[in-house]
Amino acid sequence: MREEEKNFMPDLETDIRAIRGIGEQRAKSLARLGILTLGDLLHYFPARYEDRTAVRPIAEVLPEESACIRAMVATEPRLSHVRRGMDLVKLRIVDESGSADVTYFNQAYVKNQLIRGEEYVFYGKMGGSLLRKSLTNPVYEPADRAGVTTGRILPIYRLTRGISNRLLIQCMETGLDECGDMLPELLPEELLQRYRLCRVGYAYRNVHFPADHTALGLARRRLIFEELFTLSCALGLLRGRRERSAGQPIPLPETEEFYASLPFSPTGAQRRAVDEALGDMASGQLMSRLLQGDVGSGKTLVAAALVWTAWKAGFQSAFMAPTEILAAQHFATLSGFLSPFGIRVGLLKGSMTAKEKREIKAAAEAGYIHVLVGTHALLTADVAFQRLGLVITDEQHRFGVEQRSALTEKGDRPHVLVMSATPIPRTLALMIYGDLDVSVLDELPPGRQRVDTVLVSESYRERLNGFLRDQVREGRQVFVVCPKVEEGEDGDLKLKSAAEHAQALQKTFPDLRVGCVHGRMKAKEKDAAMAAFVSGETDILVSTTVVEVGVDVPNASVMVVENAERFGLSQLHQLRGRVGRGVHKSWCVLVSDTKEENARERLRVLVRTADGFAVAEEDLKLRGPGDFFGSRQHGLPEMHVADLFGSMDMVKEAQSAAAELLARDPELSGPELQPLRQHILRLYALKENTWN
Ligand code: ADP
Ligand code: MG
Repeated sequence: MREEEKNFMPDLETDIRAIRGIGEQRAKSLARLGILTLGDLLHYFPARYEDRTAVRPIAEVLPEESACIRAMVATEPRLSHVRRGMDLVKLRIVDESGSADVTYFNQAYVKNQLIRGEEYVFYGKMGGSLLRKSLTNPVYEPADRAGVTTGRILPIYRLTRGISNRLLIQCMETGLDECGDMLPELLPEELLQRYRLCRVGYAYRNVHFPADHTALGLARRRLIFEELFTLSCALGLLRGRRERSAGQPIPLPETEEFYASLPFSPTGAQRRAVDEALGDMASGQLMSRLLQGDVGSGKTLVAAALVWTAWKAGFQSAFMAPTEILAAQHFATLSGFLSPFGIRVGLLKGSMTAKEKREIKAAAEAGYIHVLVGTHALLTADVAFQRLGLVITDEQHRFGVEQRSALTEKGDRPHVLVMSATPIPRTLALMIYGDLDVSVLDELPPGRQRVDTVLVSESYRERLNGFLRDQVREGRQVFVVCPKVEEGEDGDLKLKSAAEHAQALQKTFPDLRVGCVHGRMKAKEKDAAMAAFVSGETDILVSTTVVEVGVDVPNASVMVVENAERFGLSQLHQLRGRVGRGVHKSWCVLVSDTKEENARERLRVLVRTADGFAVAEEDLKLRGPGDFFGSRQHGLPEMHVADLFGSMDMVKEAQSAAAELLARDPELSGPELQPLRQHILRLYALKENTWN
């Protein structure tokens, strides 16, 4: 620690630059890891550990194994310049069991540090052969002073440029010494006792610097419990607040009147979901319901039925979608369902002229528009309603909890429906959407085309191109999805990029119209390219995963995914849902040259099953939940230690502990619960009175 100020007492909020050796440059690098304060530092857990505790005889360590070896330097270290910029130090070490060659590359100083006849502890990966073993660049410590980089369980942190593992370890030691005792104990004493959990100080010390395997196990168990428990408490708190808050009762309508106006009859699942939601809305309590349904299951119809019900009772609705294209599509669909009743549907987009926006907003505020569809533009402060009774958000995992509440604040506690096309296995849904009631559309409308899925390799390219040409000749359109935007983006030349692949396809099909959409384009360009495809002006649309969410192009019959092994199963399933939405036979072609049996097996799951929930279960099993959700798609704080799937028992324990606590103290108002309550409010950016 720096001691510029006298009596300087660092705490968890103290800037990381207070640590000796951390200046502007390193602070910037640490910021990339999310470390700004000493508190952040202590929360930065190791990604893995290297067990350097066991010291083993040379003879027992097989090539490819990593191990600590206590050995004597047997030869004078020899320095040689192989060529410019390449120095080698070579020596030989022996213990009672055998000997090994040691080589250091470009570490000339080693020659003077390692002394013939002295004993050291080396740690490294054994190379060479059984007959002549060798170590390259092993770390070492004098045997009588070992225990810093050898002889212990070493934490290995995720690093960034300019920050070494050694530096992080040093910082962590300082951080723990200075404020390891200030970490607030979030778990009430009673829980520590009942679930036999170690205390917070012990947990942090041992998760970073485990005394031994038992200590590490105890530390991890406690931290996982804490993470799952706080999440459960937060969701339970929200749910409780909502259940205690009254909502506008909206009387149950005669739904047959609505259904009779449709060009088709609703599926059983749609009827069930509508009934569940209308039951909530009539109950006198607030509705907060998640509508989960695979792509194409007909969620929009359910939404329309609720909007219709609200309208009958004199309430306006707001409908928020994540992109302009989707907003425009929902606008068209809802208009189709609702205008026969005289319900006025409005659309608000960022790309409208100021005048258009003004007019739409005035119409919403005056109550002239009955349902306003839009993007994030709906969240802006000058959007107001006369009597907002229902808020619907589509693809909610792209919006955070705060955004949801920004919209609901525009009404007097309106009912809320969130729609998601990401099938989530039940076990996880409880953890992630624990604050919502759930309806599931588990039935596709009749006559839906099953999308045939095939897995092909690069050698199939010519036939694939022929197939695409045939489809376009028949009047169909084609989606092609690539894993990245531009060539060389991540140095991996084997990956197809959208921009380059579009050019290549245009060359292959000079007479066809090839469009391209990716995340680096401006919103306007993106929308224009999407619109050209929707209207049939382009035949083939090459894109990154921006088309993942519910764009409806009934004329598209083929979805090609390049480097398919790079995508999550659930993501691929979503992409596949982009086709087969019309009357045409449709295909999903997964192109992959991967030789990895695991990856191929994953892709074969898609070939085998069309059921989104089955795909999600498989995905979860094969990859674990971290990858499953991608980067924070669920809008919840990142999990640091808990692997929801791997810790299913703990999930249940934490859930019941949270439920029990909240049953006794629904607002966590007891004095011993204040650290927990503050932590939750901060973590979830909740206001004191957020109810949803
Ligand atoms: P998603 O759940 O993916 O949002 P949509 O609401 O976009 O699905 O519906 C997909 C398509 O299915 C739309 O064209 C819609 O009109 C149609 N559809 C919805 N419900 C039915 C039904 N019961 N019978 C036939 N077609 C339906
Ligand atoms: Mg949809």
